[in-house]
Amino acid sequence: MPDNTSPKNAIEVRGLRKVYGGSKEMPPHEALKAVDLDIPQGSFFGLLGPNGAGKSTFINILAGLVNKSAGSASVWGFDIDKHPRNASAAIGVVPQEIVFDAFFTPREALELQAGMYGVPKAERRTEEILAAVGLLDKADAYARTLSGGMKRRLLVAKAMVHSPPILVLDEPTAGVDIALRQQLWDYVQELNEAGVTVVLTTHYLEEAEALCDRIAIINKGQVVANEETPTLLRRIDEKELDFVVDKALTTVPDELAGFRVELTGSNRFSVHYSPEVDQVNRVLDAVRAAGLHIVDLSTSEADLEDIFMQLTNEAAAEQAAGEA
Ligand code: ADP
Repeated sequence: MPDNTSPKNAIEVRGLRKVYGGSKEMPPHEALKAVDLDIPQGSFFGLLGPNGAGKSTFINILAGLVNKSAGSASVWGFDIDKHPRNASAAIGVVPQEIVFDAFFTPREALELQAGMYGVPKAERRTEEILAAVGLLDKADAYARTLSGGMKRRLLVAKAMVHSPPILVLDEPTAGVDIALRQQLWDYVQELNEAGVTVVLTTHYLEEAEALCDRIAIINKGQVVANEETPTLLRRIDEKELDFVVDKALTTVPDELAGFRVELTGSNRFSVHYSPEVDQVNRVLDAVRAAGLHIVDLSTSEADLEDIFMQLTNEAAAEQAAGEA
């Protein structure tokens, strides 16, 4: 039995691959391509990636819901092949989809879940968990009478009944309004402060940025970045200034060479920059230094796809440099 009292990494994954399909009806599709990833114990870890990147596949393999094709993974020090029960008991997953039996009350739902995990009656924390997710006053209401946000909080509560050291939230805020999102995050942050390792999958950079101390970015089944949040933010050009100027441009002026610039029309261009590194002023000064007169200016958050592209290209360039 591995030592699982306090592993350095809550989750350790090496060369993890998943191929779906491969039959006549369904050509093979590689959803995970030899992923290596460590999730440190106690962290609030963001797994960020566009739809179809492989996030749910990754989570479901760890939770024992999907079989891997190759590689190894351990959860709280338990190898998922050798000790599958211990591994899945160490993880509480809050699923993406709301699946509910409408006839149980939140209290009954939690008691049933605790029973399923074999939590003895004396050790159950039903009241405490209901209070923490703000559902104590709905404890005896039928699940079908709960709002969408309440149902989602009940899912978090269900994932916590067996007090797992790792809580995984798979895209938990889709369709949850801002006030309830905040309440959900407050509770999850409290759990994290109490020592629970939290893994959050999302395709919102802002959400990951606000909550996670470390973020891994996954794109097309590959990890393209894995860093502490401030380090990652310094590296990505997440802001964009869109210029209309008085001159037609065919090339990027030398004065702007230090920025990532995209020509978007004859007298239009966008400058991507990292707010952690560059001040808007530096961009504006460079544009003026290039002798351009600004006719119009707007600002936007860079598209997440664009950021994934940037990081994927960087990762490919590094790999090519390493192989050369
Ligand atoms: P994400 O959670 O990042 O949106 P998924 O892990 O759900 O990504 O999906 C990764 C890829 O694997 C996608 O191309 C998806 O279509 C495919 N996929 C996921 N589940 C299955 C499945 N059960 N059968 C076949 N393909 C699947």
